[in-house]
Amino acid sequence: VNKIQMKVPLVEMDGDEMTRIIWNSIKEILIKPYVDLKTEYYDLGLLKRDETDDQITIDSALATKKYGVAVKCATITPNAQRVKEYNLKQMWKSPNGTIRAILDGTVFRTPIIVESIKPLVRNWKKPICIARHAYGDVYKDVEYRVPGPGKTELVYTPEKGEVSRQTIYDFDGPGVILGMHNLDKSIKSFARACFNFALDQKKELWFATKDTISKKYDHTFKDIFEEIFEKEYQDRFARAGIEYFYTLIDDAVARVIRSEGGMIWACKNYDGDVMSDMVATAFGSLAMMTSVLVSPDGCYEYEAAHGTVTRHYYKHLKGEETSTNSMATIFAWTGALRKRGELDQINELVRFADRLEEASIRTITEGVMTKDLAQLSDHENKKIVNTEDFLREVNQRLAK
Ligand code: NAD
Repeated sequence: VNKIQMKVPLVEMDGDEMTRIIWNSIKEILIKPYVDLKTEYYDLGLLKRDETDDQITIDSALATKKYGVAVKCATITPNAQRVKEYNLKQMWKSPNGTIRAILDGTVFRTPIIVESIKPLVRNWKKPICIARHAYGDVYKDVEYRVPGPGKTELVYTPEKGEVSRQTIYDFDGPGVILGMHNLDKSIKSFARACFNFALDQKKELWFATKDTISKKYDHTFKDIFEEIFEKEYQDRFARAGIEYFYTLIDDAVARVIRSEGGMIWACKNYDGDVMSDMVATAFGSLAMMTSVLVSPDGCYEYEAAHGTVTRHYYKHLKGEETSTNSMATIFAWTGALRKRGELDQINELVRFADRLEEASIRTITEGVMTKDLAQLSDHENKKIVNTEDFLREVNQRLAK
């Protein structure tokens, strides 16, 4: 058979536990038989990160900057228990955090929709993609427990010039305060990543804050988005036939619930944290949620939104059968292959990614699924399969 040829390698970031097992099976069963797969391989498995003092994670992010497209397997973010389990030199930081800091990107999460799994919100027909700003606000705040009566102030001491001082509150008893911040630079990157992704996906972009109440903080987000849109994107949006829509966060929530879906919803850090879990749950399952990190200079890193599925891995190690859902990881691969195909103008590779996605969805539509989905699906003739058999079922449909 003539395999599809690639021009530029994908940056391949391998990972941990059950997803590492799935990773290899996807390549062997679904990709390598059809594509002459070119990758630059980085092992982000915890042992390799420990061995290289986490340099491998940094190298993989730099490679993504160089080549433009990466695909990442889920990885363990160590905690105290993992430090013991793997006898680590130290508690290494989250690889996703490290990669995101180097690429300065925004994360877009989109559910994979299949017919027999109905969203809990009846009228949702198309996926809702959440873009979460991943810097600042309450995640980098300073908090203070006010013990008793006294004045609290917001003070800015500039490098040059006059100090600015505002009273937060004159306390006559105990209470709480917090200070948080964001940066124009980060908000601008976030805005550009969202506008670029909307153009890439040809979907409308919604953005919402509470600017009526937060007249400086949230209003700055609104203003920066508007300014960048008008200067840099308005014409391109018009040509693509898509819209940028700003509204208040409470109005956005009401409209999203009543909508058919299909939009990209840009959220401030906290809103994105909360809303992405709501959207994921309402669409069915974490195992069906894909994720892509897009940098303002146009680099893409594709992954599944879920973790390493530890519980299944321990079963696997004991020789027991597992039924782990590989959909989000398959879609990470198809996302990356399609993007590589678009950038390098290899139509066959784009078509292959489309066909693999179709075959995966059709497998579930025809009733063949892993255990996690069986509980959610209203299909009449369900066949529950194990981890590998699901991939073989997909391949049977792909091969046709
Ligand atoms: P998890 O996503 O692995 O599992 C959460 C729950 O969802 C579990 O009950 C699991 O059985 C179920 N689940 C998730 N994906 C599934 C799939 N594909 N098929 C079937 N069921 C699935 O999250 P966790 O248990 O909180 O974390 C496990 C490890 O993953 C941790 O070490 C954590 O650091 C890591 N993690 C990595 C990432 C990432 O690399 N992006 C994200 C989250 C967690």
